[in-house]
Parts: sequence; C-alpha cells; structure tokens
Amino acid sequence: MSDCLFCKIAAGEIPADVVYQDDEVLAFRDLGPQAPLHLLIIPKRHISSLNEMTEADQQLVGKLSLTAAKIADELGVAEDGYRTVVNCNAAGGQTVFHLHMHLLAGRQMTWPPG
Ligand code: AMP
Ligand code: ZN
Repeated sequence: MSDCLFCKIAAGEIPADVVYQDDEVLAFRDLGPQAPLHLLIIPKRHISSLNEMTEADQQLVGKLSLTAAKIADELGVAEDGYRTVVNCNAAGGQTVFHLHMHLLAGRQMTWPPG
C-alpha cells in the first residue's frame, strides 16, 4: 500500500533501525520504546490487521512469532523472558494499520496490560 508507513519502511523508503530481515519479514526498533528492548516485527507484504488475515497468511503470521523467538534468543533475552503483543483495531490499541508484532524485553512485565 503506497500510503502505509510500515510498507514504506519495508521498501526502504523511510529509515528504520533494522535488526533482522529476510524475504518475508522485517524487524526494527520501535521509535517510542516501552521497554529496554522494543522491536516491531512485520510481514513485508501488507496485511492491515489480524482481522484481515486469511488462511493463506497462516505461515507468514506464524513466522512473526518464530522470528520474535529467534531474535530474543540472539539478543540474549529468551531465558529471562519477553512479551509479544499484537494490537488489533481501536479497542486493541492499534495505531499503525500494517500488521506488526511487538517484542518487549529487558524489564519485568506486568499483568493485566494497560
Ligand atoms: P500499535 O499501537 O500496536 O499500532 O503500534 C505502533 C507502534 O509503531 C508504536 O509502538 C509506535 O511507537 C511505532 N512507530 C510508529 N512510527 C514508527 C516508525 N517510523 N519507526 C518505528 N516505530 C514506529
Ligand atoms: Zn503496509
């Protein structure tokens, strides 16, 4: 989508602090970190939210979790633990409508979330 912020980041048109990418997914640092480590993991292909996910997207959306776990391991936070979050639509707190998984680590998470 031409007017999508994260599509532009995936295309390299807007800079981001990229920590991992392959042909399907991209991981970069959140501009407003909510934890010492706060990454966003996105599919390079535009999917607006979990609500727009189809059966054809199952592998790709699953890969967001696998990528989060691999990055957590590589960055040394896997054993201590971390949190992944996918916000969906307004009540879920989604503000950028290109599917993304937050990876938060480096501090004690609390429950319930805000
Ligand atoms: P959400 O509220 O789940 O849609 O998350 C959107 C996230 O994108 C927020 O945590 C923002 O801080 C982050 N964000 C917005 N613009 C950028 C950007 N240009 N680069 C990195 N992160 C961004
Ligand atoms: Zn997009």
